[in-house]
Order: sequence, then structure tokens, then C-alpha cells
Amino acid sequence: MQIQSDISLKSYNTFHLDCVAKLFVAISNPSEFLELMKTLQFKENERFVLGGGSNILLTKERFEGIVIKNEIMWKEILESEEWFVVIKVGAGENRDDFVQRAIDEWYRGIENLVSIPWNVWATPMQNIWAYGVEAKEIIESVEWIDYSDLKNPIIKNRSNIDCQFDYRDSIFKQSLKNKVFITHVTFLLHKYDPTHYEPIISYWAISKELESTPQKKITPRLIADIVTAIRASKLPDRRVIWTAGSFFKNPIVEKAKYEILIDKNPKINAHLHDPATSSYKLNAGQLIELSELKWITQWAVGTYKNHALVLVNHGGGTGEQLLALAELIQSRVHDNYGIKLEPEVNLI
Ligand code: NAP
Repeated sequence: MQIQSDISLKSYNTFHLDCVAKLFVAISNPSEFLELMKTLQFKENERFVLGGGSNILLTKERFEGIVIKNEIMWKEILESEEWFVVIKVGAGENRDDFVQRAIDEWYRGIENLVSIPWNVWATPMQNIWAYGVEAKEIIESVEWIDYSDLKNPIIKNRSNIDCQFDYRDSIFKQSLKNKVFITHVTFLLHKYDPTHYEPIISYWAISKELESTPQKKITPRLIADIVTAIRASKLPDRRVIWTAGSFFKNPIVEKAKYEILIDKNPKINAHLHDPATSSYKLNAGQLIELSELKWITQWAVGTYKNHALVLVNHGGGTGEQLLALAELIQSRVHDNYGIKLEPEVNLI
């Protein structure tokens, strides 16, 4: 473990923003983190744990604290039964490598979450969600080190229910925010059996693609390939375009608010979110589009041409500019629809 000074984070965040960290350290196993906790650099500085850097906006040119890069690599099958498998994965592992490997091994349950970049660390943190599947459905437990009491670090392994998963949210973004270092995530995946396979194909883009190729046998690999193709057609290739993906969460509103909005504009796209509370999920990207902010460019930053929810750095943009653009979007959508868009991306 080596603590370095004045390290540029440009290659560690997918917006490629040039923020310099006063201190930087990479951690490759839990005992290194426990060692780090004993150092003055850890005790006396503001801390920020960095995963894949794909869901952060570095708003300043300098971070006057210590950045701790999670590089814990680990993959272990803990249990393999006739119907399911339990796999423990290091929080620093690349998520898509893990997803692809699981699909190749004929496990199911994870295929709709294919092609989401970067690492396992963010999976429970954000309760990753795509195409009707959320991470909480496949997470069995999460292991972390609680560093809120520096003298008495606690290593915890908690089950799914303790993570308080909600729509793109979890305990790690709420009461445990900036208090824990996630070391491992354990997934429970089912083994594919053609007679019992019920793919999640409720999203229109997937069902439309399946209708056009009815002769194909539906397998987890086919669903993964369809999702990969849909994502590639709508979302920027992060190797070429600098972005953190969706910038805002889709807002959840009560039925009364939904009815007012639909009355005003019947084109507004919404899905029943929770039948128990009759809440509706609105499409944040559409609200931005309807506010005429699709494909705009402000300074060196903007919204992506194929997806208004995706903010991009065209090159040379700054965190301040991206933040100003996000605030402009928030205020325009609020003026038009009375809705405050909440960032999904973590602002640092
Ligand atoms: P889309 O499929 O046209 O979906 C538009 C919106 O409607 C999304 O906000 C989605 O909510 C919702 N939706 C569509 N069909 C639904 C259904 N059957 N049940 C419930 N909600 C439904 O367009 P999209 O924006 O490209 O999204 C496709 C998927 O990729 C979504 O799951 C989205 O979350 C995911 N995505 C993630 C990122 C990221 O960076 N995190 C970026 C782009 C897209 P949800 O978003 O809640 O699914």
C-alpha cells in the first residue's frame, strides 16, 4: 500500500475531469484498508472511496483529502447446487466481465444488467437497475468495513434485507454514506433450465426485438445480446465519449401529480412504480427533451444526441460546467413540470 500525493484523477473518472487528489491510495485487500485506517493521512483528511469512477462528478479542480481506490479482486464460488450458484466477488472487479462470464456459464438473472460499465463496488451502492431488473434481486449479501469509529473498525457481512435497497438507492447512499468500505458482494444466480426460464422482457425495446426474430430460442445469452445492442444504439461508447451515463434518477410521483401532468400533456411517459402506494415513475430523459434540452451544448459539455439524460464532456469541459448544466436542466424541468430531478451521479 503506497499513499501518493497530488495525483490526477483524470483517468479514474469516466467524465475524464482533471481533478487532482491531495492524497491517493489503491487498496487491494481488506487488511490493507485496516492498515490504512491507522495512518495519520487517513485520520486527518476528508476521505472519498473511488470505485470505477463511472458514477461521479468531480465538481472541483482539487480534492483536498484522500482518495481510496477500491481494487479488491476476488471471485469464488461458495456454493453450487442443482438450481443455483452463490458467488463471492471482490468490489474492485470489473462488473461486465463478471456478468459476461456468468452468462457464458449459463447462469440466469443477471442478463438484463449486461454492458453496464465498471466495477462491482457500485452494484449494491446504487442498486444498479436496467431493463426491469435491479441488483437487489441477485445480491445475497454485502461485506464491508465500517470506519465511522476509527479506533474500532467493524467488519460486517450483511444480508440483502439489511442493505435497504430501493429504486436506485441503498443504505450505502443513505445512513452509511462515507462510512463504509465495501470489500465483497455475494451474488445468488439461478442455473438456466429451458423449461423454467422466464426472461424479463417487459421493456418494449426487448419485446419488439424478440417479435422480429420469433424463431430464435430465448436464452440468457440472447437477452444479453439484445440488451447490448439496444444500449449500443442509444448510449455513447464510453471509450470515445466522456460521460457518467444517466445523470438524473427517474422521478417518482404520487398519482395525483401524475394525473395533473398527463392532463397537461398526454404524451408524458410514465409507468406504475409501486401499486401499493399508486406512485408513478416518470421518464427523466423525456422531461428533459420536452424542456428542449436534448442535444444542447454549453461550453465544452452537453447532453448526448441520442439520450437527453446522458450528460457528456466533449473534451476540455470542467466539473463546474457540468454542474451548471445539470442545474440548468433541473431548473428548466422544475419550471415546466414542478418536478425536481435528483442526480443519480454522486457529486464530489
Ligand atoms: P426506455 O427503455 O425507452 O425507457 C424509458 C423510461 O421508461 C426509463 O426511464 C424506464 O425506467 C421506463 N420504462 C420503460 N419500460 C418500462 C417498463 N416496462 N416498466 C417500467 N419502467 C419502464 O429507454 P432508456 O432510457 O434507454 O432505458 C432503458 C434501460 O436502460 C432502463 O432500464 C434504464 O434505466 C437503463 N439505462 C441506464 C443508464 C445508466 O447510466 N444508469 C443509462 C441509460 C439507460 P427505468 O430507467 O427505471 O428502467
